[in-house]
Amino acid sequence: MNKTLAIDGGRPVRRAMLPYGRQCIDEADIRAVVAVLRSDWLTTGPAVEAFERAFAEFVGVDHAVAVSSGTAALHAAIYGLGIGPGDEVIVPPMTFAATANAVILQGATVVFADVQADTLLLDPARAEAKITPRTRAIIGVDYAGQPCDYDALGKIAGRHELAVIADASHALGATHVVGMSPQDRKVGSLADLNTFSFHPVKLITTGEGGMITTNRADLAERMRRFRNHCLTRDHRERNKADAWSYDVADLGLNYRLTDLQAALGSSQLEKLPGWIARRQAIAERYHRAFEAIAGIEPLAVRGGVSHAYHLYVIRLQADRLGADRATIFSALRAEGIGVNVHYRPVHLHPYYRERLGTGPGLCPVAEEAYERMISLPIFPSMTDEDADDVIRAVTKVLEAFSA
Ligand SMILES: *Cc1c(COP(=O)(O)O)cnc(C)c1O
Repeated sequence: MNKTLAIDGGRPVRRAMLPYGRQCIDEADIRAVVAVLRSDWLTTGPAVEAFERAFAEFVGVDHAVAVSSGTAALHAAIYGLGIGPGDEVIVPPMTFAATANAVILQGATVVFADVQADTLLLDPARAEAKITPRTRAIIGVDYAGQPCDYDALGKIAGRHELAVIADASHALGATHVVGMSPQDRKVGSLADLNTFSFHPVKLITTGEGGMITTNRADLAERMRRFRNHCLTRDHRERNKADAWSYDVADLGLNYRLTDLQAALGSSQLEKLPGWIARRQAIAERYHRAFEAIAGIEPLAVRGGVSHAYHLYVIRLQADRLGADRATIFSALRAEGIGVNVHYRPVHLHPYYRERLGTGPGLCPVAEEAYERMISLPIFPSMTDEDADDVIRAVTKVLEAFSA
């Protein structure tokens, strides 16, 4: 192997950049969307209901509410619970900003609680320590694709009469095996409200799209209204009743998913189990290879959990490497590996610093992990050769910088 790094003018491991994630679309997906284009309903029609039913059944809950994005799903969840000004919601900082933004959009206050060092999942003890008389909910983020400890979070919530929301954008298709029960409990059924994103890099895609799952009929009904301006009757209900009138009962939004997107979602969902298996196989290949390389610390996987591997995150061990994350990041990009970073902790973004007065030192575990994390490419249509390119590039770069 050519050992001169591509950033130093050497030959890169690969010419075409391997992205960190990408969608899989096949002919069945395309046919499903085209069929909707030829039908009577382009939005708020039967394909949306069919997608909601299939999704609810897949995760094992009574209700699924389709919305236009993962962000809309979080916003609808906060609205559904009636959270507003004066209320506090506990959020981990190791997430995409939308998780926290949704709380602020309803006028409530975000309280950050730090994550566990080995998994970067919300630490239940740290979350409990942040509870005040104003706390209404805890949001767990299934970071990288494994579910949080919802048993522990549920117990805490029960003691303090709080709701638990799972931001499961990374974890569709993952499961949590509870106690001695042989039955898998699927992500999507683990918290009071569970939210998903169907952005192209996520586990299934509708272009843009999102879903909330719950067993609470009252919350599902509120969220259905919210996605349609809180109208008391939508256009299909008015059609059925041969009536034109409706009330605007509260402040809502247009967060509707189209039937084109929903048809794509149903078609994608059928392929999800195979895709999760492929993601797990790639992760296993990475695990095995990286055991032999100094300077890499993978994230821990909780016992009793099946991981969806939306992300494969490694942490660099600075004491064993003569380079910082930025240097290694650039070196890997130069080798043709589309590495990424997930995430800059939300409380370090300027908006949060200015609004909430947050800053470094608030969540030291997340901050320390952020400084040395890199996300490697992982998606179902990656070949073994692609994965081996990633392994070759990581090996080449880390050997060049090893202290
Ligand atoms: C992608 C994502 C979101 C937002 O989803 P969109 O569909 O992009 O709006 C929210 N939370 C997490 C953890 C995500 O990964």
